[in-house]
Amino acid sequence: MNIEEFYALFLKSNKVTIDSRKIEVNDIFFAFSGENFNAATLAEKAIDEGALAVIVEQKDFENIAKNIFYVPSTLDFLQKLAVYHRNQLSIPIIGLTGSNGKTTTKELIHAVLSEKFNVQYTFGNLNNHIGVPLTILSIKLDHEMAVIEMGANHQKEIESLCAISQPNYGYITNFGKAHLEGFGGFEGVIKGKSELYDYLKNHNQIILVNENDAIQVEKTEDYSPKITFGKESSNYDFTAFSKDHFVGLSYQNEEAVSKLTGEYNFTNLCAAASLGLYFGIKFDKIKNAIENYTPTNMRSQVVKKDDKTLVLDTYNANPSSMAASLNNFITFEGSKTIIIGDMLELGDESEKEHQDILNLALNLGFNTIITVGKNFKNINRSETAFDNTSELIDYLKLNKIQTDNVLLKGSRGIALEKAIEFI
Ligand code: ATP
Ligand code: MG
Repeated sequence: MNIEEFYALFLKSNKVTIDSRKIEVNDIFFAFSGENFNAATLAEKAIDEGALAVIVEQKDFENIAKNIFYVPSTLDFLQKLAVYHRNQLSIPIIGLTGSNGKTTTKELIHAVLSEKFNVQYTFGNLNNHIGVPLTILSIKLDHEMAVIEMGANHQKEIESLCAISQPNYGYITNFGKAHLEGFGGFEGVIKGKSELYDYLKNHNQIILVNENDAIQVEKTEDYSPKITFGKESSNYDFTAFSKDHFVGLSYQNEEAVSKLTGEYNFTNLCAAASLGLYFGIKFDKIKNAIENYTPTNMRSQVVKKDDKTLVLDTYNANPSSMAASLNNFITFEGSKTIIIGDMLELGDESEKEHQDILNLALNLGFNTIITVGKNFKNINRSETAFDNTSELIDYLKLNKIQTDNVLLKGSRGIALEKAIEFI
């Protein structure tokens, strides 16, 4: 199947999907063949139910009369189609990567820029080699901008995601201790994430820099064009404050209070506000966007439950975000319990990193420390170290937490959110 020909069909489609359950009339369905399941078997049914076309990677299922087309690799074709589409679009694309805070920053940038523009953006966390092309393909001709989250846990991934999305602006939220295993240590993280800078530099595009981050500064020294924030001398300078544990930012005597907790969200807000100002949005509109953005996604969420305040941050965890979370939570007034889950994917450094976090927690002096997962269990000799979330739940059923505040934070795989109803 030839891309140019297929593109004409794509332009008439409603959307592109790889999920057979989400097919609607006029959609294009990419039938990936998985280990256990071959989606190509659903091709005819999809067409009969109204799909515009199906792409399959098994010759046997091709049926050109029905718009079921064979390609050697659905993934490759999806990516090529995305590149082709990207090349037809003349809108600015903002690419985001970094160890922590990508999704939050993406949502904030979208909220701010939507005050003035019709902005497409990554849905949820679809930030990989399939999610990025799908996001690009979801950009319609009436969109004026797009914000694309790019995730990676190995070298060269950001490079290939940049080749697909071709960003005109780029921001690395931070360089942290996440996916150390795949990247080959912290130096590897810096190198891998910086592939976004490499792309922008090679194409003379604009880098957004937090001048409070020494690595960002070093990596973008001697480069222009840049948009900067973080220092008085930066293009945009904001001051942080907090109100009832929510992070606020002030700009030229005006204040915006977010619904996000955690000091670290300040830089996420600054990034969004800087882009807003850069694209000519007045601060009162930016304030409006920031104040109305409510996280619902288990990231930096604060909720009241009975007489307790719960901080829910169970979406992911790594040493940097865990330390940031603990340092934030200790500032809450009243007694505090932390329920921390294992930080996965740390490779050789895993034991040391878990020990460091446990030491930090002990030093900060929380009233109760509960750990969940085998990594913490190996080093935590206390009675409140559990192998998994179901053991934690059994414990919580018998022992009600007494403190005013409870933090839940751990890697996705630990699924600490299952324990919320037992607190
Ligand atoms: P993923 O790799 O899962 O896509 P992400 O980079 O998109 O993660 P978010 O989902 O936005 O990150 O945030 C995850 C958690 O990281 C937050 O709940 C918070 O604990 C922490 N975090 C958010 N922003 C920052 C930041 N700027 N610095 C350090 N930690 C942060
Ligand atoms: Mg994300």
